[in-house]
Amino acid sequence: MSENGNKVAIVTGASRGIGAAIAERLAADGFTVVINYAGSVGPAEALAARIEKAGGRAITAQADVSDPAAVARMFDAAKAAFGRIDVLVNNAGIMQLSPIAEAGDELFDRQVAINLKGVFNGLREAARRLRSGGRIISFSSSVVGLLQPGYAVYAATKAGVEAMTHVLSKELRGRNITVNAVAPGPTATELFLQNPQEVIDRLTKLTPLERLGQPQDIAATVAFLAGPDGGWINGQVLRANGGII
Ligand code: NAP
Repeated sequence: MSENGNKVAIVTGASRGIGAAIAERLAADGFTVVINYAGSVGPAEALAARIEKAGGRAITAQADVSDPAAVARMFDAAKAAFGRIDVLVNNAGIMQLSPIAEAGDELFDRQVAINLKGVFNGLREAARRLRSGGRIISFSSSVVGLLQPGYAVYAATKAGVEAMTHVLSKELRGRNITVNAVAPGPTATELFLQNPQEVIDRLTKLTPLERLGQPQDIAATVAFLAGPDGGWINGQVLRANGGII
């Protein structure tokens, strides 16, 4: 059994995109994974079946991360199923772009509810329940560095994630739990590929490695932070972005 054997990881937003790649990678690395999703039950169940077929262990857990009670129930379900929780990956997120002058209240409220409050809900449960040796990994974005027009609200939610990451890493002093964030650059998922082709091409060219990130690139970064080699990284934001900033 690998060094991660018996450890349990909750991955939010794991029905597709980066989260699905993270769940698959952590399962391959020996973690038992809890595949959280909001609405995509079919893809989440299919991923769990794929992981089980490959010899891993996985369950699915529906929860809208913006709902604190639902997030608490998800942690309860993970504990009930496996008796322990070692890793939380706060990956669930949405992106809605607009210049501030044209942005509606709904665009602001939804991104804050899912990207910021959703991460807060996960951090709070993890801070209360993770075991010694635990790892908490939340999702920022390299747009916090790029700060392009249209990204104000999205980037603000991610800057908030980075702030909470730094603070929680200090609040958990003495618990032997690391708290970090991963900040991907452009990555080939539905969230990014909703951009106009011209934006996709421009950002791909802007990246020194001259390609889009793949979900597996980001999953490898998370696996490092969650696994035995990442134990000395704490309170950091790791920009996994091919060098775009
Ligand atoms: P994606 O392909 O759109 O997938 C989003 C995932 O989040 C889905 O599994 C979705 O589940 C879930 N989700 C959405 N709202 C949720 C909610 N309220 N509660 C629970 N789950 C919810 O996005 P992605 O590109 O993989 O993004 C993953 C993370 O990386 C996000 O935090 C994003 O901001 C960040 N990021 C992405 C990029 C990029 O270029 N792709 C760059 C930087 C940062 P359902 O299908 O059930 O709705």
